[in-house]
Amino acid sequence: MIYLDYQSTTPLAPEARDAMLRWLDGPDGTAFGNPHSPHKMGRQAKAGIELARERVAALLPPGGRVIFTGNACEAINLAMRGSGSGGSIAMSAIEHAAVYDTARALGGAHILNVSNEGLCNTAQDVPDDCRLIAVMQVNNEIGTIQPTVDWHRKAKEAGALFLIDAVQAYGKMEITHADMIAISAHKFHGPKGIGALWVRDGVELDPQITGGMQEGDRSGTLSPALVAGMGAAAHLAKEQRQRDGEHTLNLWNRARELFSDWELNGGEDARWQGNLNMRREGLDVNRLMSECRNVMFSAGSACASGSGKTSHVLKAIGLSDAQAKSSIRVGFGRYTTMEQLEEGAAAINAAVKDQGL
Ligand code: PLP
Repeated sequence: MIYLDYQSTTPLAPEARDAMLRWLDGPDGTAFGNPHSPHKMGRQAKAGIELARERVAALLPPGGRVIFTGNACEAINLAMRGSGSGGSIAMSAIEHAAVYDTARALGGAHILNVSNEGLCNTAQDVPDDCRLIAVMQVNNEIGTIQPTVDWHRKAKEAGALFLIDAVQAYGKMEITHADMIAISAHKFHGPKGIGALWVRDGVELDPQITGGMQEGDRSGTLSPALVAGMGAAAHLAKEQRQRDGEHTLNLWNRARELFSDWELNGGEDARWQGNLNMRREGLDVNRLMSECRNVMFSAGSACASGSGKTSHVLKAIGLSDAQAKSSIRVGFGRYTTMEQLEEGAAAINAAVKDQGL
């Protein structure tokens, strides 16, 4: 199997797995305590959680709090639903469904256009009653990097809060200038089932899950194993960020050679290089995927693929239905070897050739 679907999820780092195992004790151990219990075992687990919180926060701006959640969808819902009501929510046309569908469910959604390059610029108005602007940092489908610093300034001018969905950016680049930032551990080699919302000091949230209020703004017993795994993954991402970036750039340069007959979706420059979304005219993507069963890649975003719906992101950057439906996304990163990339590309290109293209 060759895994080229890093935007969907990433392999668990061995260091994160080790950090988790320590908290998966059975009845003979002492590390299964409830982190919210005041006794010794509880306090031990709580210390593990606080260490992880510091590690996660180390890649986020100063002056805020980290709230652990079940995933990024929950973090985004807490941010969007908990930060106010009424008024409109402005968001880029290429937001993930977590933001896009939540804004539409809340009513008053205002869509911000993106260019054919996949960039959402600030030379466009937001509604007068705008209470929240949401612009993601790195797009999950096409990898383009949005001008979030400019959008933060615009939000402040408009008197609105600014939310960054940084799920595909965290651990890869600086994340600054926001009121709220949502992240997810499994996108940076941590475990699935844990995410976080960073909230700037002074921003109040209405809890969306009530109960014990263990996280202040969120209820539910935390899993020390998942939290520790996320913390270890964050720590590793911080230590390896430069190396990961250089490795990914090498893979990108080779991938562009290997797929030189393909058309790139989204601009070449402002992008995370671990995401290659591209198209071939006339390509039958379903057939391609069934003929390349040992290569894991995606037809658009993992959430949209399989739904039969045309990707709203590819449409927003001006692709026709036919162009969007002849597109695939190849994603790679820290643990992808050059050999895997070459072997995967060879299998994909051979199957494309079989389609007479
Ligand atoms: N936002 C972006 C940009 C994503 O890529 C994803 C996951 O695909 C999410 C939000 C949702 O993350 P989670 O799986 O943690 O709910």
